[in-house]
Amino acid sequence: MPQYQAVKGTRDIFPEEAARWKYVEGVVDALASLYGFSEIRIPVFEYTELFQRGIGSTTDIVGKEMFTFLPDPNGRSLTLRPEMTAGVMRAVLQNNLLASAPVHKLYYIGELFRKERPQAGRQRQFSQFGAELLGVSSAAAVAEVITLMMEVFRSLGLHGLKLRLNSLGDTDDRLRYRVALQDYFSPFADILDEASKERLEKNPLRILDSKNPALQELIAGAPKLYDYLNEVSVHDFEKVLSYLRQRNIAFDIDYRLVRGLDYYCNTAFEVTSSELGAQDAIGGGGRYDGLARELGSSADVPAVGFAVGMERLLMTMEKQGLFEAIAPQSPLVYVVVQQQELADHALQMVYRLRNAAIKTEIDLAARSMKAQMREANRTKASYALFVGATEFATGLYSLKNLATSEQTMLSLEAVLELLRELPAREPLKL
Ligand code: AMP
Repeated sequence: MPQYQAVKGTRDIFPEEAARWKYVEGVVDALASLYGFSEIRIPVFEYTELFQRGIGSTTDIVGKEMFTFLPDPNGRSLTLRPEMTAGVMRAVLQNNLLASAPVHKLYYIGELFRKERPQAGRQRQFSQFGAELLGVSSAAAVAEVITLMMEVFRSLGLHGLKLRLNSLGDTDDRLRYRVALQDYFSPFADILDEASKERLEKNPLRILDSKNPALQELIAGAPKLYDYLNEVSVHDFEKVLSYLRQRNIAFDIDYRLVRGLDYYCNTAFEVTSSELGAQDAIGGGGRYDGLARELGSSADVPAVGFAVGMERLLMTMEKQGLFEAIAPQSPLVYVVVQQQELADHALQMVYRLRNAAIKTEIDLAARSMKAQMREANRTKASYALFVGATEFATGLYSLKNLATSEQTMLSLEAVLELLRELPAREPLKL
């Protein structure tokens, strides 16, 4: 075994898979732009307090999953970002962006870090793409971000994903519900597991999130948050649903859906894939009107957003055979050198071909003709261009179509003409 291994919970992405990532990122970029979202890139680490305030100290993320470190003994504690929303809001508030335009529509694709137990679909470094709509969180805004997310899935050709929605109500609704949950679960404190017992005091909504099979029946009988919503919250939720129906976006209402993060209010949503096994959540989001004030803003910043896990998205696409047509682009020409004395001449030809935007490869290791031909075939080049003594003397090179084995003698100018005329080979088309 080599001495150095990648850190547990991280992985390398090699070229064939990187081509898949690029393809997905291209679809995300194109759709986000179509919907009027612009890209934001923020630092990979932030001051730890940002996440403690912005995500909430009772959440698993802040409680036990953050990679936190001190840059030096007197420095302020830093944390690798475990999610993007708090950082995006920090960036917008810090730069007072809402003064220039009251609404900002931002999207991102980036790496996140959580100290979770690695398993299939769960890594310590993973990536998300997501969008944040800051400055308005009307039903139309909520429906807009959900539509964007679902359109990405549709454009990628995914099927069988389940969108579930719930309304978490406003702060007062949740306070009343919190008391109702504590009243309901308290008599059963002895049968609750340790994690749920802890949540009973601090954040009883999170008990509903428990995957413990022994608790499912008890959880099923708990009061529904929906019954504690005020009229405005109900109306707002209904409006979101009516937009989704108008757009033919299928969904289920799931009264048990609560999101792990504290700052959500009103509409919350999650998308799952039956292709993924235990870690079946592919993305989710919701409204987070409370976050800006939590981060010290004197004004309210209504907001809504979503985040989708890239690895799980790619895994689902792979299972559904959506990458079969995607392959790294092959060279159009492979220049084969018959005598090594001509290698420099051949290299010059390669650069002329590349300057004409013709994708050209050549062996840089001075290997035998046979080895060069093997490479030409392995890289699935369309043509081989032979450079030998006769070619060098006459200025006519033999160009071989590797699919048909047809061969012609041409000057370099004629080769350039011919290959430039060929239609650009379509990369990564589904
Ligand atoms: P969250 O920010 O927890 O709502 O997660 C949003 C999405 O990110 C999830 O639905 C997953 O697809 C993905 N995700 C979250 N945590 C991980 C992880 N540890 N490894 C891989 N993907 C993750």
